[in-house]
Amino acid sequence: MTLGFALFAIGMAMVVSALKDQTVADILRGALGPDVPLGKANPSAPSGAGVSSTDGASLTQSKESSPRLLSYLQSVASRNFGLEITEPIGSDSGGHVADSYHKQGRAFDASGTPEQMAKFTEFLNHNFKTSLTELIHNPGGSIKNGKSVPGSFWGSLWGEHKGHVHVAI
Ligand SMILES: [Zn+2]
Repeated sequence: MTLGFALFAIGMAMVVSALKDQTVADILRGALGPDVPLGKANPSAPSGAGVSSTDGASLTQSKESSPRLLSYLQSVASRNFGLEITEPIGSDSGGHVADSYHKQGRAFDASGTPEQMAKFTEFLNHNFKTSLTELIHNPGGSIKNGKSVPGSFWGSLWGEHKGHVHVAI
């Protein structure tokens, strides 16, 4: 839809330019101002500017299952944040609710000190929020289908997620 609109806008600009006997470049130049050379609007910007992050956030933003991203985050939790993976991807040692993503191989649990867990939770909130199917860590981590939800959303589960970070994708 966005592309369609862009094409529509370009089409309209061409119509207008034909009516006014101007080129599209003339119109754009008028919008940008005379001092901005077309094609070099921001020569100092590095290539890739506009990408939201350089630390992996450009990985898939889908809320569908993404085994590669899930596996990546599990290894990051262990390697970069010093957390212990208490329930690895593909494992379901019991105690999970019936519809738990652990039973589908789409979740892991990671545990550590409160500070370690808080840092990992912050990292997920900041970089992968829209990619997460579930993030549950009390406090600070409460995401469902890529959107923040209040802790009360989880009912009694919220109180059971003080000692670990639950991640599902
Ligand atoms: Zn879990």
